[in-house]
Amino acid sequence: MYQNIGQAAMLFAAQTGWKEWRFYDLGFFLAAVPIVFIYGICIGSFLNVVIIRLPRGESLIKRASHCMNCGAKIRIIDLIPIFSWLFLRGKCHSCGEKISGRYPLVEALNGLLYVANFFAFGFSLNMVMMCILTSLLVVVAFMDWDTLEMDLRILLLIALMAIPIHFTWPMELSRQLIGAVCIALPFFLIGEISRHYIKKKTGEDYRGIELGDTYLMAAAGLCLGWKGIVPAAFIGILLAAIGGIIQKKVTGDSKFAFGPYLCFGIWIGAMFGEELTNWYLSRLPQPETVSYYSALFL
Ligand SMILES: [Zn+2]
Repeated sequence: MYQNIGQAAMLFAAQTGWKEWRFYDLGFFLAAVPIVFIYGICIGSFLNVVIIRLPRGESLIKRASHCMNCGAKIRIIDLIPIFSWLFLRGKCHSCGEKISGRYPLVEALNGLLYVANFFAFGFSLNMVMMCILTSLLVVVAFMDWDTLEMDLRILLLIALMAIPIHFTWPMELSRQLIGAVCIALPFFLIGEISRHYIKKKTGEDYRGIELGDTYLMAAAGLCLGWKGIVPAAFIGILLAAIGGIIQKKVTGDSKFAFGPYLCFGIWIGAMFGEELTNWYLSRLPQPETVSYYSALFL
């Protein structure tokens, strides 16, 4: 076992490329995946607190977790992510009130996404960056789903992630700056124009694309660069179109949260965006023109 870890560490040290699959020793790999998953669900447990409390203006650390119905303090034994919910069969230990399946869902999702990040980046600084970004996106997605609003502080944290990513990825500043505006600016303009027409037609004052979605794409674009954010936007818009139709059929309300779809698109963009964009550029019919434009941006 220790020999395996040693070999894996040597292999890891030998591999310094960005986003290369790291062919760890199988034993080490099998040992690492559950650790990454458990770490992910523990962070996911904290994300639940953020998602619930931040929109209400409650402190994230002061008050201990409590039942939403009877206010009973949640016992230490019931704080184990996912498993406690399963043991309690989704009910409060004190009053028997149903506990939302959302809690274990967010925990499991965060855990699985961390494992996917580990698959893509191995144990590296970039994996750490990806995990932080992933968790911030989970918070934005579920908060937007619940409240149709985004917390500017979380969006600011996403934008700040652009600084370490600039050095660890590494990514050129020009690409990041283009990434910050190339989706956000069209989103802003569509929002403004649609607002004008919606006001004219219905008298209501809202935008086709909300400012929160625009800021999200600016912040994420700054992190991922244009090669990441462009496919992210395509995937987000496509999923939102499908999801929006389904949601409208189910709820009958034409207003729906765009954020969760964008967040999923951004995560895919962070994982595979550069590969997708490079693949697409390589398929374009005029290679001379492409290399000319590539030379401008790269
Ligand atoms: Zn209770």
